[in-house]
Amino acid sequence: MEMSANQPPQDANNICPVPPPLPGPATNCGRKALFMMNGSQTRGYSCVSTATRDSWDSLFDGGYRADVAIKTDNGGIVYAHANVLGTASPVLKGMLKQAKGFGKKRSITIHGVPQDVVRVFIRFLYSSCYEKEEMKEYVLLLLVLSHAYVVPQLKQICEQHLEHGLLTIENVIDVFQLALLCDAPRLSLISHSMILSNFKAVSATEGWKAMKKSHPALEKELLESVIDEENMRKNKIRKSNERKIYLQLYEAMEALVHICRDGCRTIGPHDKDFKEDQAPCNYAACKGLELLIRHFAGCKLRVPGGCVHCKRMWQLLELHSRLCADSSLCRVPLCRNFTEKIRKQSKKDEIKWKMLVKKILRTKRIGGAPFFVSLNSISS
Ligand SMILES: [Zn+2]
Ligand SMILES: [Zn+2]
Ligand SMILES: [Zn+2]
Repeated sequence: MEMSANQPPQDANNICPVPPPLPGPATNCGRKALFMMNGSQTRGYSCVSTATRDSWDSLFDGGYRADVAIKTDNGGIVYAHANVLGTASPVLKGMLKQAKGFGKKRSITIHGVPQDVVRVFIRFLYSSCYEKEEMKEYVLLLLVLSHAYVVPQLKQICEQHLEHGLLTIENVIDVFQLALLCDAPRLSLISHSMILSNFKAVSATEGWKAMKKSHPALEKELLESVIDEENMRKNKIRKSNERKIYLQLYEAMEALVHICRDGCRTIGPHDKDFKEDQAPCNYAACKGLELLIRHFAGCKLRVPGGCVHCKRMWQLLELHSRLCADSSLCRVPLCRNFTEKIRKQSKKDEIKWKMLVKKILRTKRIGGAPFFVSLNSISS
């Protein structure tokens, strides 16, 4: 059992918040070497010395001068010492105060869990020890007992075991419900995110079916959060695709200015010489733009609303003029001609274009540099 890492057990998909780290355990000194001392794996886990642990264990096992009888389900009895119980659990202390008994012997009852679980629980109150297998089998019941009888050390250990391996698709619904009941926010967050990221498998478990019957409101809540998560995921993909498109447009705009100002490979201002063997430039969009400009220059249908390629070129030219920082110095063809069109456009068109320009500038977060208008200069 790996107990060192405080990481959540599964990939929470980066959508759910990462749960805060647990505070350091009180009964677990975190040094693995001690756990393994004298083959102590078979004796359970603890960081007190073996001798101390053994004497507390044998005090419980032997019941020397035990003065409390704990009645459990099916008539079972576990013997214990009032001093130990009262010291370890304020709830047991209260029960013992009110307990009736003969002479010095008192008796209390712990119902609702098998006797074996009561034994494991009470043993922990003595020696802070437990067997690995017992923990594996009874972790949920021990979590409930530790919460009900206010034994925070055991509660923390149960939560850690669940977080680092005992939480499964099969039991996650039960764990989630118990975490809510037992006020274990970290565990409820972890199990909730496990439910969301494995929804299909989890919704086929017995736990889910039982919850559906006993807590329909909780089922409804979970279904809602699954839908929310799905929407968030779709939204994220949509936004990232949008961003890609705006980024491509931004790069096309940069490349257009660069071609019209410096020239690139085979095209550019008429006062420049071009060499076919010129090194490739830094603008990725240049190549596509070069082909488009060549087409635009030669196309017979060169009117707005002409062929798809020309239409695209017109759109790019218009977009440029809306982004252009200074039309009077600009060398992009028709840059100034659009000013007239822009003045005549409808309010609706104006808003649409302004939104597009803003989104394009925002993808680079450097509006205005070096030859585009600044983001702040666009009124909304
Ligand atoms: Zn270029
Ligand atoms: Zn054309
Ligand atoms: Zn311009």
